[in-house]
Amino acid sequence: METILSAGLEALGLPTEGAAALARYGQLLQAQNQVMNLTAITDPEQIARLHMLDCAALAAHVPLSGAKVLDVGSGAGFPGMVLKLLVPDCEMTLLDALEKRMRWLASIAPELGAEDVVCLHGRAEELGQSPDFREGFDVATSRAVADLSMLAELSLPFVRVGGLFVAMKSVDSRTEVDRAAHAVAVLGGRLLPAVDYTIPGTDVTHRLVRVEKVRPTPGQYPRRFAKLKKAPL
Ligand code: SAM
Repeated sequence: METILSAGLEALGLPTEGAAALARYGQLLQAQNQVMNLTAITDPEQIARLHMLDCAALAAHVPLSGAKVLDVGSGAGFPGMVLKLLVPDCEMTLLDALEKRMRWLASIAPELGAEDVVCLHGRAEELGQSPDFREGFDVATSRAVADLSMLAELSLPFVRVGGLFVAMKSVDSRTEVDRAAHAVAVLGGRLLPAVDYTIPGTDVTHRLVRVEKVRPTPGQYPRRFAKLKKAPL
């Protein structure tokens, strides 16, 4: 796995030093996946490419060094843990509603050299209303959590004005992005041109949908989950 990761990081224009930690993370993920539902991908090469290198691509396109970053709906740590291992000087918080996944990530972080990663159990729509977290991050990221209009409501409240929200999407997300334009504007965001990338060693192309936070998010957002799901902005 480490060889694939090293070559892939190089292809993405990233330093290869993080390959060993990513490979160890992949091994721990495979082992834990036997007892906890973490990922449907079980082949080590596929884990390296479709999880690790897919998420690494974000670090190739978004400056994270020194930034305070929140990964919304991180699950087994994607993309947040990968980004933390590649950019150790970012302040990374992983957030997920499933406590056991956050407990597992906290338990493996020291072994990966990421002891300062914060693993937060909670719901984004609740923590986004908390003064402890609201508009407290330079960057929010999210992969495979929700449709963009819902995701923008869950994520943009965490981003400070001048910061960035990056949603990892497929290249056929154009209609989804067009439909979310109104929500993004209401929530204080402005869509920037998307960035497409091909995962090294595959013919899979994915898209980074980037939203700049240009105004504070109005206080009524995020709404309760049932409400924002039933009536997306
Ligand atoms: N981002 C990871 C990835 O790409 O592999 C996990 C994706 S998984 C399909 C979606 C995750 O989002 C789940 O772990 C779920 O618990 C979390 N999630 C969904 N809605 C959430 C919410 N409102 N607040 C916090 N976590 C949420």
